[in-house]
Amino acid sequence: MTAWTLAYEGFDPGDERLREALCTLGNGYFATRGAAPEATADDVHYPGTYVAGCYNRLVSQVAGRDVENEDLVNVPNWLPLTFRPEGGDWLDLRQVELLDYRQELDLRHGVLTRFLSFLDPQGRVTRVTQRRFVHMADHHVAGLETTIVPQNWSGRLEVRSALDGRVTNSGVARYRLLDGRHLTPLETGDAGDDAIWLLVETRSSHERIAQAARTRVLRDGEPVAAERRTVQEPGFVAHDLAVDVREGEPLIVEKVVTLFTSRARAVAEPGHAARSWVGRVGGFEELLERHVAAWGRLWRRCRIGIDAENHDVASTVNLHVFHLLQTVSGHTIDLDVGVPARGLHGEAYRGHIFWDELFVFPFLNLRFPEATRALLRYRHRRLPEARWAARQAGYQGAMYPWQSGSDGREETQRLHLNPRSGRWLPDNSHLQRHVNVAIAYNVWQYYQVTGDLEFLGEHGAEMLLEIARFWASIATYNRALDRYEILGVMGPDEYHDGYPDRDRPGLDNNAYTNVMAAWVLCRALETLDLLPEHRRIELEDRLRLQQEEIDRWEEVSRKLRVCFHDGDIISQFEGYERLQELDWEGLRRRHGEIRRLDRILEAEDDSPNRYKASKQADVLMLFYLLSADELRALLERLGYRLEPAAIPRNVDYYLQRTSHGSTLSGVVHAWVLARSDRSRSWNFFAEALASDVHDVQGGTTAEGIHLGAMAGTVDLAQRCYTGLETREGVLWLSPGLPEGLDGLDLAVRYRGHWGVHLHVTPAVLQVLVAGSDAAPVKVGFKGEVVAIEPGGMREFPL
Ligand code: BGC
Repeated sequence: MTAWTLAYEGFDPGDERLREALCTLGNGYFATRGAAPEATADDVHYPGTYVAGCYNRLVSQVAGRDVENEDLVNVPNWLPLTFRPEGGDWLDLRQVELLDYRQELDLRHGVLTRFLSFLDPQGRVTRVTQRRFVHMADHHVAGLETTIVPQNWSGRLEVRSALDGRVTNSGVARYRLLDGRHLTPLETGDAGDDAIWLLVETRSSHERIAQAARTRVLRDGEPVAAERRTVQEPGFVAHDLAVDVREGEPLIVEKVVTLFTSRARAVAEPGHAARSWVGRVGGFEELLERHVAAWGRLWRRCRIGIDAENHDVASTVNLHVFHLLQTVSGHTIDLDVGVPARGLHGEAYRGHIFWDELFVFPFLNLRFPEATRALLRYRHRRLPEARWAARQAGYQGAMYPWQSGSDGREETQRLHLNPRSGRWLPDNSHLQRHVNVAIAYNVWQYYQVTGDLEFLGEHGAEMLLEIARFWASIATYNRALDRYEILGVMGPDEYHDGYPDRDRPGLDNNAYTNVMAAWVLCRALETLDLLPEHRRIELEDRLRLQQEEIDRWEEVSRKLRVCFHDGDIISQFEGYERLQELDWEGLRRRHGEIRRLDRILEAEDDSPNRYKASKQADVLMLFYLLSADELRALLERLGYRLEPAAIPRNVDYYLQRTSHGSTLSGVVHAWVLARSDRSRSWNFFAEALASDVHDVQGGTTAEGIHLGAMAGTVDLAQRCYTGLETREGVLWLSPGLPEGLDGLDLAVRYRGHWGVHLHVTPAVLQVLVAGSDAAPVKVGFKGEVVAIEPGGMREFPL
């Protein structure tokens, strides 16, 4: 990998699906995996195209039960393009002798290129170069250009360019027993202008998806007249072209595609839109130029300059920013969608939205606050559903689901398959009520970074208050202790979903949940004070919020229970200390890789619930989200003392007991160690960076990238190593570069300022405010606040 290219030499069938996920191209509206254009889904390849927010619900029979799932739909494959010398076989890499094979993802320009040359059984050598984009400026457009050079032969060449709507969702082996047939074919045909088109509809959400493909053949930049025939089958349409080729003369096949769904904006009917736009957009080169320019603008805003001895660090950070911007971009803003945990890059977790936003929004807040605002609106629109869920469970306020899809109902599966044991098991992860902390935290952070009181008043406050209400109502009073308790929930550590000796799932007094619930209650109280009076009165009236209830929030926020053991170790949950220590070494010896401890233990008829062993950071999430001062103050408000020395003790304690079965774990641990143990922090950072490029979770990246970890690593560079905090209208900075990092260069948007440039070296911090900014920026450093005028620069020695 170089700073701006991810390159693969040679064709490796075993690695192909991973490459497809990592070479996905997208624009925040739709994304297409980097699959070979001549391939269909099989044991090697998995072409997939996903449109943000395009879901469908199906019922399947599993283990004798009806199981209903909503999935992000694999929409028709627009890539298919293959060729053969007349009378020969269509290209199949496994049937020819590959002489050369290379694939390159150009991150700067958003272009995927494949070079290959091969010898067919008839002795013909053919060289092929393919370039493609998913257009970053015209978000309904994609392009694929194939240059074919017969090296030692001349003759008639047949080309097939197709749109394939016969695809299913079958990209994740664990889900294969479930129904994945989401599409009903509706229409196919010629669209004029050398184009074909296809219309399908999702089976239960009845969303229509239309694609049109214009295929043209060029030689020396001039169109070549080709014999053209349309092939139609239900859900499939192709143009078969035939043209003469000559030895050594490149022939270019240009495929330009449009994609619209019935949920697209400014569209009367998707079929009409796809057909008419495919005739209007320019040729491949012209489109490419504007696509590259759009990426140029994005990189100017989003690049993080990294000076590190290990060059892979800078290139992987670029790759992570790249995939983040392909999942969420300016084109996402107008859609009513959230951020799927696995990007638009595959089918893992069915395109659902979890708490991972917590790791994604900090980057967006400081670059694309309008994107965060739009993504928070996705949550706001689902407030009625969250209120209903709270009511159903016997609570007040709003209880957002652990996994969310189209309409915001709980989408978490109730059964999951352990591929190790082959058993279907109850899945209690919906008890992760802490997702409601993440949403409230995100509302608050967005406000801190942008100062957007308008949004807070219009939408943010309502969510915050309703979530606060939920926390106050789920908390029960324990008279004997004079404390409030939250019982029967799960923390972020998914290996613990209950007590080994209790039938009912759920744990009591999860520290992360309780402390953060207190935090939410405090922010809700603060929000009421922040709102302009007339809006506060309106909201209180609308939510029927009485002083009595506000008083209760105040009380609960001071009396939530936190358990401790071994002196000052914050117990992950009540009773944690009674669990057994796990024989980590023994397990490692027996199994090697033990990240997915849950599956290993379950397959041995055991359960992680019996042990002090976590999948990922749980207690330590507190140190990730809150500064040491904030956490200390919050605990003090709750009547607990946290000595400074207790923090490293807690970090060590839980680190020794964590298997890092989630890619989010490395991000959190890199963060919490950043100030106390720079070299360990760097190791976790490096590991989190490797999560997807090196597929450290044993094959899961092929099913979709881990967007939270990708964004989280970028945010480590952005906020953690610069010590960037946004509080009370001040941009606080306190850089601390880990060993291995020599410098950082980035520009952030902050409270209406478009360009606050930060340059950090081990010796100095430079802050430069763009001359075009309207007002001075308040920057805090070592307890002092200075105002830097537009066009001004300040240096702070470190
Ligand atoms: C993690 C969760 C995360 C989810 C989606 C799980 O493996 O434990 O914390 O939200 O993946 O990324």
